Amino acid sequence: SNWTEITESFDHMNLKMDLLHGIYGYGFEKPSAIQKQAIKPCCEGRDVIAQAQSGTGKTATFSISVLQLVDERIRDVQALILAPTHELAQQSHGVLQSIGTKMKNIRSHVCIGGTRIADDQAKLSGGVQVVVGTPGRVMDMINRGILSTARIKVFVVDEADEMLSRGFRDQIYDLFKAMPHDVQVILLSATMPPEVFEITKKFMRNPVKILVKKEEVTLEGIKQFYVDVGLEKYKFDTLCDLYEAINITQAVIFVNTRRKVEMLSEQLSLKKFTVSCMHSEMSQEDRNIIMKEFRSGTSCILISTDLLARGIDVQQVSVVINYELPNNRENYIHRIGRSGRFGRKGVAINLVAQSDMHKLQDIENFYSTEIHEMPADVSQY
Ligand code: ADP
Ligand code: MG
Repeated sequence: SNWTEITESFDHMNLKMDLLHGIYGYGFEKPSAIQKQAIKPCCEGRDVIAQAQSGTGKTATFSISVLQLVDERIRDVQALILAPTHELAQQSHGVLQSIGTKMKNIRSHVCIGGTRIADDQAKLSGGVQVVVGTPGRVMDMINRGILSTARIKVFVVDEADEMLSRGFRDQIYDLFKAMPHDVQVILLSATMPPEVFEITKKFMRNPVKILVKKEEVTLEGIKQFYVDVGLEKYKFDTLCDLYEAINITQAVIFVNTRRKVEMLSEQLSLKKFTVSCMHSEMSQEDRNIIMKEFRSGTSCILISTDLLARGIDVQQVSVVINYELPNNRENYIHRIGRSGRFGRKGVAINLVAQSDMHKLQDIENFYSTEIHEMPADVSQY
């Protein structure tokens, strides 16, 4: 069923009073399009596939639903929310906690690698109803008998297409097998390539599908440009020329490998440009510090890999630079979607060598979107 009912106000969603107060207290006045469509079926216990453009409020969609579904009187884990990265799990956990702040008996915990298992154990044995985590650590908790799945009733997979592809798929399957057989499944992402539906048949029952046509996945508020750098070796100078223009706001620069993150930040530092960088080989403490500085605006420009392509919500980010184009079409959408959050304006600048121009054309064709050559004065955007 592709048709779904629309609920225009949070008031009309039959939500618990404390939850409703939490939503308004968090500053939300009206539900976004995906929230209008998806919260109701989620709260009714339906399996749901929820696709919606980046920055349109999928986190609150599943957070509100989970908080509504959980029975606060029971101190067992009833909801499991999975995310592909530590940073996204932490961020989503923060949103869930904030929205649930008026629900006095809700306990939640974030289970991610790079932290002490003993801390997870202590927290979980205290009685937690909602776990937000990354697949590896969550599976570990289950295997060690620290996290009991027996009373889990809702299983949420954010960035579902990423989670059901390549690296993660086996882990997600294993986790799914560890759930009670009648568990409710909610999948969310801005991109839902067709393969996802094949896979979901295995573990979803008659899901409500809320989908976006691929030519509507890109956001109008995000202007997309490219700079033809000619040869790869001229890219760095082009980036340096852009530095002053982008340093006035928050920006993310994406490259494809950890090594490139390090090389580029070193090159920029030598030129006395201030940048911070993050990749998956850094310690969790360092990653936390970098994220905190970036969220607070202490640092303005962050270089990273696709580690930060998905989900990260920093409202001040208005520029995304693809120093290297991503290796898949989906991550292009996710990367540029780090800007233009919830209707804000954003600019995506692709630095493209002649030899990579075909990749850009592939993205344009696939999403029926136009990526123009960057005008001399990009600051007007
Ligand atoms: P998505 O997961 O769809 O990419 P997020 O859940 O990260 O998007 O939300 C993007 C931004 O929109 C967040 O900063 C969030 O606080 C804001 N937001 C979400 N829902 C609402 C709403 N109903 N009203 C106002 N702001 C909202
Ligand atoms: Mg998201």
